[in-house]
Amino acid sequence: MVKSIRKKSSLKDSLRYVRGVGPKIASVFEKRGIITVEDALYFIPYRYEDRRNIKRISQLKIGELETSMGSIVLMDVVNYRSRKVFEMIIGDGTGFITAKWFVFNEKLMKLRFKKGQRVIFTGEVKIFNFKKEIIHPDIEVIEDEDFCESIHYGRIVPVYSEMEGIYQKRIRRIMKEIVDGYAHLVSDPLPDPIKEKYKLPHIHDALREVHFPDDDISFASLMERRSPGYQRLIFDDFFFLQLGLAIRKKSFARESGFVFNKDSELLKRFIKSLDFELTLAQIRVIDEIITDMRSGKPMNRLLQGDVGSGKTVVAFIASLFAVDNGYQVAIMAPTEILAEQHYRNFKKYSENLGITVELLTGNIKRKEREDILEAISSGKIDILIGTHALIQENVRFYNLGFAVIDEQHRFGVLQRAALRSKGYNPHLLVMTATPIPRTLAMTVYGDLDISIIDEMPPGRRPVVTKIFSERERQKVYRIIDEEISKGHQAFVIYPIVQESEKLDLRDATRMAKKLALEVFPEYNIGLIHGKMDRSSREKIMDAFRRGDINILVSTTVVEVGIDVPNATVMIIEHAERFGLSQLHQLRGRVGRSPYPSKCILIEGDGSTDEARRRLSAIVEKADGFSIAEEDLIIRGPGEFFGTKQSGIPDFRVADPVRDAGILAISRKEAFDLIEKAPNLSSQGSLKEYLQRYWKGKLDLLIS
Ligand code: ADP
Ligand code: MG
Repeated sequence: MVKSIRKKSSLKDSLRYVRGVGPKIASVFEKRGIITVEDALYFIPYRYEDRRNIKRISQLKIGELETSMGSIVLMDVVNYRSRKVFEMIIGDGTGFITAKWFVFNEKLMKLRFKKGQRVIFTGEVKIFNFKKEIIHPDIEVIEDEDFCESIHYGRIVPVYSEMEGIYQKRIRRIMKEIVDGYAHLVSDPLPDPIKEKYKLPHIHDALREVHFPDDDISFASLMERRSPGYQRLIFDDFFFLQLGLAIRKKSFARESGFVFNKDSELLKRFIKSLDFELTLAQIRVIDEIITDMRSGKPMNRLLQGDVGSGKTVVAFIASLFAVDNGYQVAIMAPTEILAEQHYRNFKKYSENLGITVELLTGNIKRKEREDILEAISSGKIDILIGTHALIQENVRFYNLGFAVIDEQHRFGVLQRAALRSKGYNPHLLVMTATPIPRTLAMTVYGDLDISIIDEMPPGRRPVVTKIFSERERQKVYRIIDEEISKGHQAFVIYPIVQESEKLDLRDATRMAKKLALEVFPEYNIGLIHGKMDRSSREKIMDAFRRGDINILVSTTVVEVGIDVPNATVMIIEHAERFGLSQLHQLRGRVGRSPYPSKCILIEGDGSTDEARRRLSAIVEKADGFSIAEEDLIIRGPGEFFGTKQSGIPDFRVADPVRDAGILAISRKEAFDLIEKAPNLSSQGSLKEYLQRYWKGKLDLLIS
């Protein structure tokens, strides 16, 4: 082993103890969140270079990705008309090749490379003016002593993600020290029978393989994360997550829940009185919910349904069932506007049913709030609707039996737990309009049962979606005008409320003025945003609902949930600044009636390629399911799931889309294990590892 490693090495050692790491390098690693050697062991290469087969320059084939070495014969900045190119001619006695950089920092290049130096390089070989060239190669300087080290050449070489001012060779040497000196200290938490069953390597071998693979590992399998070492790390990523979820689910299931077994006449009467027929999908999920509520186990269910699929009425029917069984209900929504809308709907639905509905948000005056709190704790209120205000400490229910969280992706796991804790194991229903494939739902919501509304109410028309540029603004105004003259209404959305010095963007406040004074003086324009107080906001929303306001100018406060069927145009200004699911949600505000609706995306000048990709996705795709999938691909799982806020630990290597197969297997094994050993009683080290993995959050989640 490496001699510099002191006697008592530990995985908790700071990187500074590693040979070749000074305070400066340690602090660069630290910025990446790599503090201990254990962190570094899981700093996985982002790609590899196949240097098993280094060719002479004369042998390099045009069009192939090749690796070769040689000496720098000449290098300089060359001017091609308006363009500057950094060129380097490399020769090895058999021939020459030109390396070119179109993007470069001249000073740094000249500092890093010198004439006469030996370099190794990889890239796609091209031909230009009958000469071989390679554009933006991966290139490293070779020092004589490097040949004593086998880690850089003649093998598959790991490439780590860039860190400021540290060359790959340096990182590679440090990683080699760490893998040699510490990998064997990692205790393998995965039970042996599982390893054997799926032929997964020991964690030590897996770590060694992914950093410094042996020659017999296929290059492609490393690049695609299919090699045995990767399969092992991916399995671990999922397994410990699923184990945590399995424990959580098991602990819910062991608790007893309220049994709602009344045959509710009230419910039947309400369904008959509705002015529409429930869709089959709605009936099915209502059935699933009521079955849970009768079971004696606390319900813990996720309701997925695209924007406009009719989740609210499902939540109301379930609430009615709970109330008729003698219990209170809490409905939590992410924004005040949405809470206010639910309140209005629930009030309307519950007319003549003899039940009391109340609203509690942060905006409510002290006296009124005290009255509400009193009525809640004495059981005078049946259904309490609100925002985060519901989970504040002073809110005490008389007997909370059912809790609903709408637009659940806007809340974290802890808030879910907080709402639950307002009652004694109340039934819980969380709702989301960000539908995700079932396998993926398992990664984040693996402890929940899932219901899906996969059918839209009849008569909905697809919303025609188009992209317009700034220059086509007049056309957009004409479209608004046409719709309003037909008696319909329009939304116009802006990314910001007020003019900003930092951002050169149109803002809601100024544009509302401009639209009212210059563009549409004959129409009524309303402005609404999150910074308004409740009563002015309600006035505006009421007027819009009544049709007194023709055009509602807004920020994204109307993004979720708002339901005004007579609105048929949605204009989104600076559409490039919105995320994909945000755009889908905003578009979901129209197309809620039998009239054809339009969604117009105005693309500002500061758009990017990624933004353009989002916009064309929203134009092409209509259903939330495929939009969510696209969003997942564009943003990657970490961002998409918002793992930080959801309380789910980050994956080190796994990708739930790419690795769906391993996910399914590891989930099955995790759930089987918890079925057999609910407290992991015979698995001391596993339990300890799990606690560390969930960083103590598990207890919190179990409670
Ligand atoms: P979301 O699932 O996005 O929360 P909502 O619950 O706001 O959707 O419902 C959207 C609209 O569809 C509402 O106006 C609601 O009254 C209406 N709606 C719900 N279910 C049906 C149905 N079965 N038939 C017709 N309209 C329905
Ligand atoms: Mg909704």
